[in-house]
Amino acid sequence: MSTEEAAVSTVNNFLKNIIEEDLKNGKHGSVITRFPPEPNGYLHIGHAKSICINFGLARDFGGRCHLRFDDTNPAKEEQEYIDSIMESVKWLGFDWGTHLYYASDNFEQLYQWAVYLIEQGKAYVDDLTAEQIRAYRGTLTEAGTESPFRNRTVAENIDLFARMRSGEFPDGSHVLRAKIDMAAPNINLRDPVLYRILNAPHPHVGDAWKIYPMYDFAHGQTDAIEGITHSICTLEFESHKPLYEWFLDNLPIPVRPRQYEFARLNLTYTVMSKRKLQELVQKGTVSGWDDPRMPTLAGIRRRGYPAASVRTFCELIGVGRSDSWIDVAILEECVRSELNETAPRAMAVLRPVKLIVDNYPVGQVEEFSAANHPQKPEMGSRTLHFSREIWIERDDFMETPSKGFHRLTVGGEVKLRGGYIITCTGVVKDADGVIVELHGTYDPASRDGIHTADGRKVKGVIHWVAVDSAVSAEVRLFDRLFSDPNPDRGGADYSQFLNAASVEIVSDAQLEASLAHSTAETRFQFERLGYFYQDPTDSRQESLVFNRIVTLRDAWVTKK
Ligand code: ATP
Ligand code: MG
Repeated sequence: MSTEEAAVSTVNNFLKNIIEEDLKNGKHGSVITRFPPEPNGYLHIGHAKSICINFGLARDFGGRCHLRFDDTNPAKEEQEYIDSIMESVKWLGFDWGTHLYYASDNFEQLYQWAVYLIEQGKAYVDDLTAEQIRAYRGTLTEAGTESPFRNRTVAENIDLFARMRSGEFPDGSHVLRAKIDMAAPNINLRDPVLYRILNAPHPHVGDAWKIYPMYDFAHGQTDAIEGITHSICTLEFESHKPLYEWFLDNLPIPVRPRQYEFARLNLTYTVMSKRKLQELVQKGTVSGWDDPRMPTLAGIRRRGYPAASVRTFCELIGVGRSDSWIDVAILEECVRSELNETAPRAMAVLRPVKLIVDNYPVGQVEEFSAANHPQKPEMGSRTLHFSREIWIERDDFMETPSKGFHRLTVGGEVKLRGGYIITCTGVVKDADGVIVELHGTYDPASRDGIHTADGRKVKGVIHWVAVDSAVSAEVRLFDRLFSDPNPDRGGADYSQFLNAASVEIVSDAQLEASLAHSTAETRFQFERLGYFYQDPTDSRQESLVFNRIVTLRDAWVTKK
């Protein structure tokens, strides 16, 4: 999708049109949405789309958005996930105010509603095993088979369900099912399970329960309890809607939230299921949920993506109803264009080789003032130190230059960005032929700008750092975690597409002196190298660690 097409799809945010209509014709006085994660993993960039939609619509229409944990499965949920989800939503720039909810706070109400369904003859306790239930369910083309326990009396069901609650039965021995229609064309309506026995403590409600409601029995009713006006979810829940409506129709619930589905975000070169992300963490393929290569919000935050660029991305891709793939390059371009505006410039040399300026006095230090941003004088300037020994990139020198190489060669000239023009006069190598230092001279007349006394032109401009005042740092260069655009393709093992070179650690980069005391939150453009951010976990004042957030240009365009 081009940027222009994306901009058009923003206009086609069909949810905005629906809400506008609902407010105009008085169907709702105000909008209440919610972001409803299951706390069974860290949030990823797909969730960011959902967060931006739900919180964004509430903001745009003067309503409110709840953060609600759909915490019905304690076997997979943890406090760590609850905490990280709250952190990530806040980081993205959204605020639920006092409206933090847990589906589990409604467990008593849900239990009472389950009892109500039993009393109405619309739910029964089943003793079939999970496997039998699956086998009895039928297929898309064949009706299911009724359970032999389907016609238990109300009294028997009430008794068994109460005993399930009290912990009398082992896990898996009974479930409560809705009595709907085993021949329904929509399989979700073939007597879905409402409650299961699970002897597991719950991260929010502790040991209070031995039975837990299924997600489908909790989700819609919880929306109703919270007074959600627009229940927004991804397309895979479309086939669950008739079930949610069956519950609302058959329970004494006065309100009816309306469900609207949108297409989930799929990103190229990325896997986005929580299960797969968890596998990457558990197998040690990545260093954790917040590994800077992960598509998790914790990961991209640690990498240095500004939250604003993620919001811009979500705005740009728009909200539609047809499944589509978004090129991860679009996300990277949002990060780049945000940082191009906001990041101060600095110089760093990743693979340093020493250049000795032989005609420069030993011990002399000269100061140059360099603008922090070429187009933004209001961002101020900093001081660069020039002295006899400087670091330049090994790659910026070629002994036998290839065609079109405009940087340093023996006998050639190059402009030091913000400093002098240098001529290379010689190379010193060790016994193995490896270059250990370069020698050169500077042109004193070239101090200001690129002009020389005799008007000759110098094509190449390179970055540099003075040896004396340089600060050494570790720099982590990241590439995509997967080398295939669709590592998640049906059935294939995504791990075969892992990019073996997704991280490169540069252990002894040399940074300009001004970076020694830079604030940890500042994202910098290291000239010619990309945008960088101090790793919030590993960087220390005495041993700096910078992550490359993104390169200056999309390197994958040429790779392809
Ligand atoms: P996963 O499939 O990664 O496990 P999930 O859908 O089970 O994710 P939830 O915690 O239930 O994760 O998601 C919370 C909300 O975020 C849901 O409303 C869900 O529809 C939405 N969401 C999840 N993944 C995406 C995505 N890729 N794009 C947009 N919205 C998403
Ligand atoms: Mg889900």
